[in-house]
Amino acid sequence: MFVYKVGVAGAGTMGAQLAQVMTYAGLPVVLSDVTMTAAQRGVETVRRIYQSRVDKGKMTPEQLEEKMLLVTPADNFDAFQDVDLAIEAVSENMALKQQVLRDLEESCPSGAVLASNTSALSISAMGAATRRPGKVLGLHFFNPAYAMPLVEVIPGLATEMDTVNDMVGFVESIRKVPIMVKECAGFLVNRVLMAYLNEAVLCLQDGAGSIKQIEEDMRHFGMPVGPFTLLDSVGLDISYDVAGILYEHYGPRMTPAPLLAELVKTGRLGVKNGQGFFDYNGPNTGVVDRLVATLHQQANRPGTPWSSRRLLFAMVNEAVTALQEGVASARDIDLAMVAGTGFPTEIAGPLHYADSLGIDVVLRDLEEYAQTLGPRFWPAPLLRRMVAANFTGTKVGRGFFVY
Ligand code: NAD
Repeated sequence: MFVYKVGVAGAGTMGAQLAQVMTYAGLPVVLSDVTMTAAQRGVETVRRIYQSRVDKGKMTPEQLEEKMLLVTPADNFDAFQDVDLAIEAVSENMALKQQVLRDLEESCPSGAVLASNTSALSISAMGAATRRPGKVLGLHFFNPAYAMPLVEVIPGLATEMDTVNDMVGFVESIRKVPIMVKECAGFLVNRVLMAYLNEAVLCLQDGAGSIKQIEEDMRHFGMPVGPFTLLDSVGLDISYDVAGILYEHYGPRMTPAPLLAELVKTGRLGVKNGQGFFDYNGPNTGVVDRLVATLHQQANRPGTPWSSRRLLFAMVNEAVTALQEGVASARDIDLAMVAGTGFPTEIAGPLHYADSLGIDVVLRDLEEYAQTLGPRFWPAPLLRRMVAANFTGTKVGRGFFVY
């Protein structure tokens, strides 16, 4: 299947970025929102993304204008009548998305693929709202889509394999990295990443480390930004929603850190309102320190020790759990964490990291953490099987990968 034209529903943060990605690959795009003003705002975002390329000398002003000719704003789906692919990027609400998919189904050709850019909602449930569930799937782009190469391709229960293969080919054709992911809460990257981010908040809340120390140590490990900077830029409200969805599906090991809930309750939403773990519009107000002290006092427990391994092993353990569940292959899990989160390329992903430390070492430390920090660190059973079979990583030439 060739994609000659794309429709994007929702011209907010992600919709505009998707329009830029598609036009950059040379495809005409209709970018729609509920009003023409909102759609035009999306087109202006596309222009701004291109303008920053012009400013960096990566394209000429003429090339920018050529690209802009490929984007058409709309306040309805009439111009979707000849698209091969429609991607919805409307607000994260199941009822809204199901209605938008039904509307898209009415306007798009019968052979068109209908994709959702949802971060967390069920693709199967969206497909079930349409008369063509075989043509519905998740295409999860990451923010900012112009810089992040990863796209999770998520079939729902009824998605036809042809649809999946067509979309893997399409994602490759726009020079992104497609990773096929079995449908599960948080899909692959957000699920594994949130285990790491939540542990960072727990470390802060338990008095194990300060924001400064945790940020510095994780950057020193090679992460592009520290966990609190990342949480602030995603938005603490959105992060808390995602944490809640993961908890609902995976249970106590994903219990959201109470500090995250407290911050959202006090109106600290991150970069978007100038206050999160950091204060962006002035000097440090000390609000977070006071909240941490209060929570620590209420818990009435001694502080826990800091180690960057707490965060990294939380990530490794969730990655192994996803591998056991067949969410993706070991290769794809590592590739996704590098391409989707900036996990250091030279380490090549959490499973390669575990192999390099030794699976026996990872198992031993997780067992210790499970005893001292809590059962959220209970080792994924596959780790025990691997150690018993001497698949202990690079030192013996085989672990998650063969060396
Ligand atoms: P946003 O709030 O910035 O934009 C949503 C847009 O959808 C708004 O402009 C809204 O007016 C529009 N909209 C609402 N109803 C509509 C309708 N019936 N028809 C057309 N447009 C409609 O949201 P966002 O951050 O761009 O998120 C969009 C989707 O992408 C969500 O599902 C979100 O989970 C997902 N996502 C977001 C990010 C992120 O970092 N923001 C990353 C990956 C995926």
